[in-house]
Amino acid sequence: MGDFNQTVILDAIRRSEAGISRTALAQVTGLSGQAITNITRRLIDAGLVSEGERTVNGRGKPRTTLNLEPSGQYAIGVHLDPVVLTYVALDLTGRTIGRAQQWTPTVRDPQGVVAGMAEEIAVLVRETGIDRARVVGVGIAAPGPIDIERGIVIDPPNLAGWGQVPLREALGEATGLPVLLDKDVTAAASAERWAGGAQGGGSFVFFYLGTGVGAGLVIGGQVMRGSSQNVGEIGHITVDPDGPLCFCGRRGCLGESSQPRYLVQRGILAGLLPADIDLADPTRVEEAFGVLCELAAAGGEARAILLELVDRIAKAVEDIANLLDLDRVIFGGPHWSRLRPFFGERLKATLRSRFLARSIHQFEVVGTSLGEDVGAVGAASLVLDHTFSTNPSVLLLNA
Ligand SMILES: [Zn+2]
Repeated sequence: MGDFNQTVILDAIRRSEAGISRTALAQVTGLSGQAITNITRRLIDAGLVSEGERTVNGRGKPRTTLNLEPSGQYAIGVHLDPVVLTYVALDLTGRTIGRAQQWTPTVRDPQGVVAGMAEEIAVLVRETGIDRARVVGVGIAAPGPIDIERGIVIDPPNLAGWGQVPLREALGEATGLPVLLDKDVTAAASAERWAGGAQGGGSFVFFYLGTGVGAGLVIGGQVMRGSSQNVGEIGHITVDPDGPLCFCGRRGCLGESSQPRYLVQRGILAGLLPADIDLADPTRVEEAFGVLCELAAAGGEARAILLELVDRIAKAVEDIANLLDLDRVIFGGPHWSRLRPFFGERLKATLRSRFLARSIHQFEVVGTSLGEDVGAVGAASLVLDHTFSTNPSVLLLNA
């Protein structure tokens, strides 16, 4: 019970941006003044909370505001994307205090990749100058499907050689830190909810644009996880019956027809890109995809290829938005910054006109406010959530 009350108090302090007095804490939490005094003393001694200014209100006793102490705890977030690995360090207030990015090794060697992650985490901790003893854990966001109970990544379509990898345990052993695993799109949606400001409220789909596509869902302010935490698999929605053959055996799946590999191949066939690009090499494909996006800025055939992509994605977003009566779509992921110029007014107008509840409320189209780090920030927030959350489902993940 003591721990529960402590969490309630920490959460109330976090929610009060300008700080909160002990008297106000008692009002907000319903706890006795004595309990507040004891618990806040403990939190101050533990370095999680600091005392701010004393303010005098009329003739009453002066009040001291309490704030989170940013250096009280740190969380590391790792986002494993098939092409790029992103690392962030967050302080207790959720602010990003350090980041790093590297190419995801293409070798079929998950153990080696995990060892590399542990090294990079150690470098990040050293370079940001944070106290290693105050790093409470690592959150890792990975492509699905994942087995959350066992902490295993199961054969993600775009990560060759990752059959059944016990990622949570392996990274825990390599770093000596507690590790929490979450699906990439869910981590991104939680990050928007946590740190996205006004656009993190209400009901929205986070649409992930990377080597694969995926959807994270927040409905009525709650992150949706599904019965096995694998919500958001949209890769096999058919968006073009004449499209490319997917590994599932059908044609024109959203995931396959959004792949940089397919778009680069279209660019090669149109004579826009050199014919000798090795389509089996993700790094080379990624570079060629960047060239295609640059060419598309000038218009012509390259632009037509990308606008067709936008139309296919619009169809999927339309269906999700109408199914769930959403407030907005938030686009993000490693390819968002390159694709953003093509997701302009045409897409917004299309989605608004196809949103069936439009006479009642608007459907917004926005980009992530958290940049390329959104998945990693979400993974790290998951760790911080454990410090603040009294939600039993979050506590369960900790077990
Ligand atoms: Zn498919």
